[in-house]
Amino acid sequence: MVATILVVEDEPAIQELITYNLQLAGHRVVCAETGEQAFSLIKHELPDLILLDWMLPGASGVDVARRLRAAERTKLVPIIMLTARTDERDKLLGLETGADDYITKPFSPRELIARIKAVLRRRAPQMTDDMVSMGELRLDPVSRRVTGGGQPIELGPTEFRLLHFLMTHPGRVHSRAQFLDQIWGDHVFVEERTVDVHIRRLRKALEESGLDEMIQTVRGAGYRMSAD
Ligand code: CA
Repeated sequence: MVATILVVEDEPAIQELITYNLQLAGHRVVCAETGEQAFSLIKHELPDLILLDWMLPGASGVDVARRLRAAERTKLVPIIMLTARTDERDKLLGLETGADDYITKPFSPRELIARIKAVLRRRAPQMTDDMVSMGELRLDPVSRRVTGGGQPIELGPTEFRLLHFLMTHPGRVHSRAQFLDQIWGDHVFVEERTVDVHIRRLRKALEESGLDEMIQTVRGAGYRMSAD
């Protein structure tokens, strides 16, 4: 799945290098040169992950990370901080920044991509290409194939994303608003009942394999998926 990554970096050469490699890895990239610019971009669209340079003009990366963690809307966005030297990294590790990981410059494209993947796997598993299974259901994000008890299940793109999200967060209840943020993106205006429409379609598709009851309605709260 394509992740939207916000790169906050004031050095054009590094920004360009990161952008090139992230795009090559299939991600969508949005760039900011300062914390203020980053916040105004975030206002329009919440990224799936933020790469944040420590040394920025104006507010430092540490300040930006703290502000992101303190705000309701951005508190869960994965953050990877970039530092210029190992001693900076050591200093950063001792600070309460709320970052999920730290990378020291210069880093290889391969290391960058691997760290991003590891953080996404931990914090946003629906963004990775890992095969997922739950009970009799298997979902392969690479081939976009879903099977139930070995039989193929045909799904539309929205139902596929919905199922991928549910399967990577087993047992957890999600509200309609959370589904909208996660599946449609929080910058898109879609009515909450749209979620019900797609859940209904998803259940219908799972019916044939007898797996539709894996998706449970939790009254007054939303939906949950589990194998039992
Ligand atoms: Ca910098």
